[in-house]
Amino acid sequence: MSEKIPVTRLDAPVSTRVANESLEEGNDLLLDSIHDFANKLTQPGARDALQRYVDWQIAQRNAEDVDAVELDPSLVPDFVPISINLDLTTACNYQCDHCVDLDILNTGIRYDHEKLLSSLELMTQRGLKSVIVIGGGEPTLYPKFGETIRFMKSLGLQVAIVSNGTGNLKIAEVADCMDKNDWVRLSLDSGADETFQVMHNPRKAFSLYDICGAVPKIREANPDVTVGFSYIVTWRGANINDRDIVENLHEIALATRLARDSKFSYISFKPFLTRDEINNAEVIGIGEQSHKEAIVAAIQQQVDEAVQLETDDFKVHRSTGLKALLEGQIQKLEKQPQQCHMQFFRQVLSPLGLYNCPVYRNQEHGKLGDKNAVSDVQAYDATRGVAANLIRDFNATTNCEKVTCLYNDVNWWIEGLIQNPDALANLSDNVSDPDYFL
Ligand code: SF4
Repeated sequence: MSEKIPVTRLDAPVSTRVANESLEEGNDLLLDSIHDFANKLTQPGARDALQRYVDWQIAQRNAEDVDAVELDPSLVPDFVPISINLDLTTACNYQCDHCVDLDILNTGIRYDHEKLLSSLELMTQRGLKSVIVIGGGEPTLYPKFGETIRFMKSLGLQVAIVSNGTGNLKIAEVADCMDKNDWVRLSLDSGADETFQVMHNPRKAFSLYDICGAVPKIREANPDVTVGFSYIVTWRGANINDRDIVENLHEIALATRLARDSKFSYISFKPFLTRDEINNAEVIGIGEQSHKEAIVAAIQQQVDEAVQLETDDFKVHRSTGLKALLEGQIQKLEKQPQQCHMQFFRQVLSPLGLYNCPVYRNQEHGKLGDKNAVSDVQAYDATRGVAANLIRDFNATTNCEKVTCLYNDVNWWIEGLIQNPDALANLSDNVSDPDYFL
């Protein structure tokens, strides 16, 4: 059985900080609201799924305690994830040196488009609230990109697009159907075009400045949609796929100025991830660096400079992972409960299959089914059984012990609700501006 967490954690209001039992007092990490997933799970529509999940887990654990009975898939709550990462394509027109998905790019594996649409429709009927159109390829290269975005909006889903920026005009064309809770984020990772070129190796002549120059077109097409500049911070000695990564930490402030002047809504910094040698999980790749302290100090100095550039219309965000890196708390986000509850609430649908977590995209041990795993009711019912087994059998404490997990806080929070169910009944509903992105 999983470890107990202190009841005091549950007495607090819905999560605003990472504070599991692995954290010492005074070492909490403040979470940005977009990463406060516990809060999001108390919104209308999500809370019902949370309640049913917690009830199911309690019943399962009681049953296992008493009789060691096998899990009955028919008892699994009839909910799909509230939020998915949707990889539209494996095609990409870059060859980024820091890409964690390099081995799955340009495989030619694709969706049957009609089945993809029926998957989205069925998932919406069963509780899906939001879709982040993202990785494993460049989404705007999907031939039916615009049609798919419009289809999801017609279903009433919240939609976010994460792109490399080369399809900005396609995004501008579809932006009219989006609303103020939707967003676009461009992965650019540099402040100067010279660095941009060596980091991303575009197959055609795309420049950082041209990409940024097209951002106002998206914002003019729909001023309600926020557009973010995403920056993966890299350092000398960072390595993935047996390749050294180009260092960019010295351009953090430069990129912030470029983002602000190009009418982005914000810039967001996160640390470079590499693949763990043992289980291929995505992990922060700074562990063995001999000059770690100097790296952290240099990043902090640049981030401090970047924050000075904030205005009323332009913000600087640091990911939970970057905060953990800067504050020396990486290890505390690597201590996961035995069960990863977020496998139930957030999954990844890709042409390669359905996966339990963005960290295990295209990894067999995180696979829930193929690309049609939720395309009809029969497939969906079978997938529920697989998901239930994985929630029971996937040991996050060991599998994810090197992952600075973005969902560490909410996983511990749900674990606490399972062990102290009265706390769930006492939580107040979150009726703030809806944000179902997980
Ligand atoms: S514990 Fe975190 S990293 Fe591991 S599967 Fe769950 S969400 Fe993903």
